[in-house]
Amino acid sequence: MSETIFSKIIRKEIPAKVVYEDDQCLAFYDVAPQAPVHVLVIPKKPIESLEQLTAEDAPLMGHLWQVIQRVARQERVAESGYRVVVNCGHQGGQSVDHLHFHILGGRDLAWPPG
Ligand code: 5GP
Repeated sequence: MSETIFSKIIRKEIPAKVVYEDDQCLAFYDVAPQAPVHVLVIPKKPIESLEQLTAEDAPLMGHLWQVIQRVARQERVAESGYRVVVNCGHQGGQSVDHLHFHILGGRDLAWPPG
């Protein structure tokens, strides 16, 4: 997997507004927010996309969902509602080749997404 901007954020080589961090993952505000709350949750393990996940990543993914829930509560969108998005591959709209979960909330979100 090639180096991405998210690897640099994990290593603190470029700044990000971090809202949660532990040994397995990092959560930080998206630089181009699409909603009042727009946080990215990423594993520190360099996994390129959802397509690269394997069975051995199951515990890590379970942990990430718990972190997503924690961040949604911390950002005060748990009660009003929020959306979790994973863009995968070119037509899926993935622009950074490091697996990431978007947490979007703080406004009414349209459905279906474009
Ligand atoms: P994707 O389009 O791959 O699903 O999402 C990538 C997201 O990363 C985009 O929403 C984009 O705004 C965000 N992003 C790209 N570069 C940076 C950066 O340097 N810092 C932060 N905080 N977000 C970034």
